[in-house]
Order: sequence, then C-alpha cells, then structure tokens
Amino acid sequence: MIKTILPKSTIGIIGGGQLGRMLAMSAKEMGYKIAILDPGEDCCARKFADVFIHSAFNDFKNVEELCKLSDVITFEFENIDVEVLKILEKKYNFVQSAKSLEISQNRLSEKEFARSLDIPTVKYYKYNDENIVIDSTYLMKTLRFGYDGKGQKKINSIEEIEEDTILEKLLDLDKEISVVAVKDRENIEIVAVVENEHRENILFRSNIPANITKEQNNKAIEYTKRILDNFDYYGVLTVEFFISDGEVIFNEIAPRVHNSGHITMQSANKSQFRAHIEAICGLKVGEIYNKETTLYNILGQNEEYFINLITKRQGFLHLYEKEARHNRKIGHINFEGTVYLEDDFE
Ligand code: ADP
Ligand code: MG
Repeated sequence: MIKTILPKSTIGIIGGGQLGRMLAMSAKEMGYKIAILDPGEDCCARKFADVFIHSAFNDFKNVEELCKLSDVITFEFENIDVEVLKILEKKYNFVQSAKSLEISQNRLSEKEFARSLDIPTVKYYKYNDENIVIDSTYLMKTLRFGYDGKGQKKINSIEEIEEDTILEKLLDLDKEISVVAVKDRENIEIVAVVENEHRENILFRSNIPANITKEQNNKAIEYTKRILDNFDYYGVLTVEFFISDGEVIFNEIAPRVHNSGHITMQSANKSQFRAHIEAICGLKVGEIYNKETTLYNILGQNEEYFINLITKRQGFLHLYEKEARHNRKIGHINFEGTVYLEDDFE
C-alpha cells in the first residue's frame, strides 16, 4: 500500500537536469522540501533543492544518504544503477520499482516486454541473433543509454553490425505520438496523448490534440494502460509510439515525465509534473483534460530566435538555465492553439 506523503515532507530526486528542475518546482509550489543528487555541481535543478548531494549516480553511500533524508524517492531518468536500487528499495520508499526500471532501460527487454503483452513492435533482432536477415535498411541502436537519437546508425548489411545493439527495421512513419500516463493509488489516468515531430531525431514540436484517428488514439491508450498495469509502479510513465501504415506500433517506454509532456504545463488542468508528485505521494490525481496547445523545444542554436519571438508574441517561456550548446535542449515554449513557425524558423 502506498504511503501518503504530505507537504513539508521531503521528496528525493535522483538527477538534477531539467526534468528534476520542473519536478522540484512543482513540488515546491505544493510546499514539499526537495533533496537532489546529481554529479553536476551546477546542475539546473539545484536552485530548487533544499538539500543538494553532489555525487555520481552509482555511489551507493551517497544515494543511500539521499534516501535517508527523503520520505519518498523518485528519479528523472531511467539509467540509474538497478542493482543499487534493488537493495535500496527494500529499505526506503521507492514507488517506481527497480524491475520496471530494468525493463525500460534496455531497448531489447522493453520490446520483449511489449510483445509479451501483445503490443505490436517494429521487427527487430538482437545483434547476435543467428537468424538475422538484413533485407532492407535497419536502424542499429545501442541496447542502453541512447537519447535524442544518440547511439543510432542506419545499416544495410550484416557486416555493419556492432556488439550490444538492437537492429530495428526502419519504418516509414506517418506520425509519432506519445502517451503520458500516470498511475496513482487506485487508477491509471491519461495525462495527454501528444503528437511529436522530430528533427535530426530530437523532438522539435509537439501538438495537442494529436491528429490521429479515434481508433489509433484508443489503441495507444489501451497499450499504455496495459504496460502500467503490469508494472509495479506509481507515478508518470510515458510510452512512445509510431504510426506506420495506419498501425500503432510500440517504440519505447520512459518511466518518468517526458519532454513531450512539457506541453501539459499549459495544455492541461494538471501538468505531468504535478501529476507525478501527487501520484508518488499517494494522493489522488483524478481526471486530466487538455486544450489545443503547441510546444516548441529551444535548442542551444535557436536561443536567440525564440527569445526574440517571445518578446513579440504571446507564449509561455520555460528556460532551464543551461549553457546553450548545439542541439542541446535548453528550454521550451508553449503556445495556445496550433502554431506553425515553419515560415520564419531559421
Ligand atoms: P531515443 O528517443 O531514445 O533517442 P528512439 O528509439 O525513440 O530513441 O529514436 C529516436 C527517433 O528516431 C524516433 O523518435 C524516430 O523519429 C526515429 N526512429 C527510431 N526508430 C525508428 C524506426 N525503427 N523506424 C523509423 N524511425 C525510427
Ligand atoms: Mg524516443
């Protein structure tokens, strides 16, 4: 049974990037205290932390120190040491199980998991599968640690295969969507179904509502609920899907708040951050509904463009106080309604 943790208590967050920052801001608004552990001394969530532990993520002693200080512990990314978590979750209040994290941090195990639940995936092979047939272009992805398309490469022959990878058939995508969902003490609620457009494998723009059919929408929601039903987990979890040839195809699980879900800061009656904090604290999240909204990510090289834009038209600017490097996400802007910046963009 999940514990009820009330404001004034401390929420521990492993990771102090922009997701940790926005989680902390949301929790602070409710009156919680925040403890953050991160290896970066200048990490962007630090200014919202009451306690900051400067440490590597796999340092058992320091992670335990964070647990001791915290009434509930969460994380902003999936690549934390599962072995450390398996030991600590027996003693401290982790509500997102190490098992669910273990499945989501490996591209092969998450696809096997999806298939075991009868959720369609792209055709794939493990790099050392004896039956590999490369008869078209495949996307080779590292089994772990990829993000924003990092660790991915197109291949057309068996000779190009590298170790510790998964080979996925390159699909012709009609669209990409994500379902941001949350499991609270009694229900699974849908925070948002979001349509996502990537450029160079990095999320460029997100829209609500997603321009998909009712059947596709219902299928994606049903698959996401199936995953959450089979996870020992409370909090926000996001599933990315491809729409290809009209079919809804599982891509990956993020056991956390998600970049596309940043749109809910303006689109929803309750943002993904607030929903996550409530769910891990054992509160009821309740029904979430959204209005038509557009999100643009701000990458380092586009900072000037977006800052200039926001002085001229209404929008909701969220800057993460990160150094503006090429292709690095340093903020986002949400606009009411459907907004296309194509004509004046770059
Ligand atoms: P990550 O988001 O962790 O970098 P993804 O597997 O989501 O990795 O891949 C990033 C993007 O690359 C996807 O959002 C999609 O645009 C494209 N992509 C990934 N896998 C495929 C595939 N099998 N076929 C077509 N496009 C793909
Ligand atoms: Mg992805």
